[in-house]
Amino acid sequence: MIIDGHNDRVLHHWRGEPTLHLDLEAAREAGFSGGFFALYVPSPKVPDPEEIPYSMPLPEAIPQEEAARIAEELFAAFCELPVVRATSVDDFREGQVTAIVHLEGADPLAPDLSDLERWYERGLRSVGLVWSRPNAFAEGVPFRFPSSPDTGAGLTDAGRELVRACNRLGILVDLSHLNEAGFWDVQRISDAPLVATHSNAHALSPASRNLTDSQLDAIRDSGGVVGVNFAVTFLREDGHNDPSTPISEIVRHIDYLVERMGIDHVAFGSDFDGATIPDELGGAAGLPKLVGALRDAGYDDAALAKLTHENWLRVLAETWR
Ligand code: ZN
Repeated sequence: MIIDGHNDRVLHHWRGEPTLHLDLEAAREAGFSGGFFALYVPSPKVPDPEEIPYSMPLPEAIPQEEAARIAEELFAAFCELPVVRATSVDDFREGQVTAIVHLEGADPLAPDLSDLERWYERGLRSVGLVWSRPNAFAEGVPFRFPSSPDTGAGLTDAGRELVRACNRLGILVDLSHLNEAGFWDVQRISDAPLVATHSNAHALSPASRNLTDSQLDAIRDSGGVVGVNFAVTFLREDGHNDPSTPISEIVRHIDYLVERMGIDHVAFGSDFDGATIPDELGGAAGLPKLVGALRDAGYDDAALAKLTHENWLRVLAETWR
């Protein structure tokens, strides 16, 4: 059973584009039992960086009404996918794909949170306060390489209220795409395990989107989890957008995170359909290759169970009410 921290399957479905990495039937046959399915209101596409170093400006904020309108369409597209919507950890079963409704960027939410409960009732169980752009709640981390994640201001008052409201309702708060000031604001406010659904080790790949050792330590100390992102630009030491990057780069980050945080705090956060991933993996159908590489690297059955699903299930059970 494999549970995963992030995919952009809904965005492709909404756009009427074929999936790149997440054919749901092939994924299911490969042991993929689902995970976080992002509702992401897109900014105008910026081309993948060709040059290193790069420093992309933060995209402009999207007006809330516009973001809310697009999120309705994304949610409708989500509802068309042949998946089971997760509201409890018991919804995850072998042989079926179960999807957590995840808002990647809270841009669609009213700053007074008047619509949050309606979203909860529809199944929303995970909110990333920001994608990499500013909104009413926080400022995202811009895409830079190499760069510290410490790039700007932390949460707004509305952002702090959103974290408290998520704690109260039992909605997971995702730290991926936050800058470092925002990360520490959530760390101070939240009473749930800290989670970064799709981020890697900054010590191995110094992208602004990755997590410093002190951030990793804080996630560990909270009982939380990091979902390892398969995006080659966040795996590679040189940050290059090179699809010939081998699966061993994913294993390298998992080894580092396990060494730093312990086996209970590391999971998968693929970014399927959202990034360039290793050709050697190909997509969700290649997940057994990754599990095989981890086995070859010395992870036994108990460790593999934690990495592939048990850590996600534990954190979800502690976070959801
Ligand atoms: Zn993302």
